Amino acid sequence: RYRLFYVAPIARDTIFESMKDSAFVLDEQNRIADINSAACRLLNQTARAIIGRSAEDLFASQPDLIDRYRNTTEARDEIVLARGDMVGHFDLRISPICDRQGQVIGRLIMLHDISRRKRAEEELSRAKQAAEAASRAKGEFLATMSHEIRTPMNAVLGMTSLMLETNLDDDQREMAQIVRVSGESLLTIINDILDFSKIESGKLEVERQPFDLRRCVEETLDLLASNAAEKGINLACTISDDTPARIAGDVTRVRQILFNLIGNGLKFTERGEVVVSVTSKVTDPPMGRHEIHFAVSDTGIGIPEDRLDCLFQSFNQVDASTTRKYGGTGLGLAISKRLSVLMGGDIWVESKDVPGLGSTFHFTISADEVDEQESTTEHLPALAGKRLLIIEQNQTNLRILMDYARSWGMIASAASTVSEGLTWIREGTLFDVAIINTQSNTQLPDTDRIALAREAQDSIRPLPFIALTYVGRGSHDADRSLFAAQLTIPIKSSQLYNTLNSVLGIQPAHGGPQASKGGAARKMAEQLPLRILLAEDNLINQKVAQHILGRLGYSPDLAANGLEVLDALSRQRYDVVLMDLHMPEMDGMEAARIVRERFPQSQQPVIIAVTADAMQGDRERCLAAGMDNYLSKPLRIEDLGEVLALTAVQHSRSQIRAAIVIP
Ligand code: ADP
Repeated sequence: RYRLFYVAPIARDTIFESMKDSAFVLDEQNRIADINSAACRLLNQTARAIIGRSAEDLFASQPDLIDRYRNTTEARDEIVLARGDMVGHFDLRISPICDRQGQVIGRLIMLHDISRRKRAEEELSRAKQAAEAASRAKGEFLATMSHEIRTPMNAVLGMTSLMLETNLDDDQREMAQIVRVSGESLLTIINDILDFSKIESGKLEVERQPFDLRRCVEETLDLLASNAAEKGINLACTISDDTPARIAGDVTRVRQILFNLIGNGLKFTERGEVVVSVTSKVTDPPMGRHEIHFAVSDTGIGIPEDRLDCLFQSFNQVDASTTRKYGGTGLGLAISKRLSVLMGGDIWVESKDVPGLGSTFHFTISADEVDEQESTTEHLPALAGKRLLIIEQNQTNLRILMDYARSWGMIASAASTVSEGLTWIREGTLFDVAIINTQSNTQLPDTDRIALAREAQDSIRPLPFIALTYVGRGSHDADRSLFAAQLTIPIKSSQLYNTLNSVLGIQPAHGGPQASKGGAARKMAEQLPLRILLAEDNLINQKVAQHILGRLGYSPDLAANGLEVLDALSRQRYDVVLMDLHMPEMDGMEAARIVRERFPQSQQPVIIAVTADAMQGDRERCLAAGMDNYLSKPLRIEDLGEVLALTAVQHSRSQIRAAIVIP
C-alpha cells in the first residue's frame, strides 16, 4: 500500500505531465481540479495560478466555446482558440470522470494541437485553387487561340474551294488541293486541342440517345477504309452475337474513340491488319445495362512496356522521333481516356514491343440496351442452304465471312489459295456462289485470273464470283466480266448480305445500303452541283458528314459554330448550309434566325438542321427559326440525298432546280 502511494504520483508525473496534448481536469462546478504542463504552456500561466479557477473565467475570451460545451460530458470536435494575435486549431476531446458508483463527478478535457496540419491543408487548398485557376486560364487561352487560328483558316479553305471551281490547269489544281488538304489537317489538330480543353474544364457532357452499335462501328471503319487501302492493310470488325444491337449512349463519342484508336492502329502499322472486336457483358440485368468492350488490335510497331502507362496523359508520345515520322499531337489517347471514363468505362493497352506483334487498345463503356425498332439481324431464310466457296488467306476475314455465312444458314467452305479453290471446282464440288479476295498479298496473278474465268464459264452451272477488294481499287476492266459483284474491305454484314442476295438473284429481306448504289449516288453532285457549308463543332461528326457528302460527290466547307457560319456566308455564297443545332458560341437556331434577317435574298442559302436529339416539336422550331428542312443524326446517305434534292426543289432558285436526282 505504501508503495502504491509512492508509485502513483510518479506515474502521474511521467504520463500526465509529459503529454504533448493539453489536459484539464474539471470538477462538477466546472472548476479546474488539475492541469498538465502542456496546458499551462498553452495558457501561459502556472498551474498554481490556474487550479481552482472556473473554466468560464479562464476561457472568458471564448464565450461561444463555454456555451457550447458547458454541460457536455462527451464530445469530439475541432475548435479554434485565440492565442494572442494568432489562432490555433485544436482537436477537442471531452470525456466524463466517474466515481466508483458510476456517478459523473467531473470531466477530462484534452486539446491536441492540429494547427500545423491545418496550415498545410490551407496551403494545399490555396495551391490547388491556384493550379485550377492556371489550368482554367490555359484552357481559355487554348480556346481563344484555337478560335483565332480557325477564323483565318476557314477563310483560306473557303477561298480554296472557290478557287477549285474556277478554270485551273492541272498543276494549279494540284496546288490548290494541297492547300485544302493541309488546311483541313491543321483544323483537325486545332479541333483536337479545343476538344481537349473543353473536356479538361469539365464542360463536356455525354449524350444518352439510342443508336445502332454495329452501324456505328462499321461507319467508323468506312471513314478509315481508304487509309487502310492506301497502305494495303486489312481492316476488319467482329461483333459478338450477345452484344446488344441498339444501346443508349453517345454515338459521336464512341465513334471518336474508335476513330482515334483505329487511326493510330493504321498509322503505326506497315503491314498486316487492324481488327476491331466488340463484346459485351450484362452488368445490371433488370436495367438491361451492359458493359460494352471494344478492342482494337494491330500488327504494327508495338509499344515499349515502360511507356505503356504514360500514353494516356496529354501531349505524350512514346518517342519524340515518332512525331516527326508519323505526325500527331499526342492528344488523341488523352481525349479517348477522358471520354471513356465519362461514359462509365475505362481504356487500357496491351503491347509486346515486338514489331509485327503490335498493340491492342481496349476501352469499355457502360450502356443500356434499347429495344430494337426493326430487326436488322432477322433475315429471310433465302440464303439458307446455299453453298458458298470462300477463297481467302487472311484468317480474320475468313472467320468473319464464315461466321456471317453460317449465321444465315449457308454451307460455307474455305480455301486458302486460288488453286485449292479451283481443285474443288474441278473435282465437281457444287457451289452456288464464291467470294475471292483479289487483293491479299498481291493482285490476283494472271494465270489464276484466266483459270478462274475459264472455270467460272465452263462449269455446267456458271459459278458467280464476288471479288473482295480494297475501296478505291476497282477491279481491272478485264476482271469486270469475271466478277459478278464487288465487296469492299472492311467486310460489313449488310453489304455482304445484300451482295450475296443480289448475285444469287434473291430479293433482300431489308433494303440496306447496297454496294452498287455508290456510283449512282456519286453522280448526284454532277447532276445537282451544290456549294455546301457544313456547320458542326464535333470533329467526328464533321468527318461522318464529309464522308457521306463525299459519297454523293460533294466536298463541303466547314464551320464550327454559328459565328463562323455568318462569317463564311458574308464571304461567299453557299447553296446549302447543313446546320448542327448545338454549337458553342452561337447555336444553329440563332445563326439561322440571323441569316434570315440580315442577308439579302440573293445570298440566302437553303438551311437544313442536323441534330441528335430528335425531340417532338424540334422540326417546328427549326422551321420557325427560318430553316428549310430537318435531318436527325446519325446522318444516313439516303436521307441526306433525299433532303438535299427535295429542299432544292422547294427552294425557288433556278440553278438548283436544273436537275434533280434522288439517289
Ligand atoms: P498522336 O497519335 O496524335 O501522337 P495519341 O494520343 O493518339 O496521339 O497517341 C500517343 C502516342 O501513343 C503516339 O504518338 C504513339 O507513340 C503511341 N501509340 C498510340 N497508338 C499506337 C499503336 N497502335 N501502336 C504503336 N504506338 C501507338
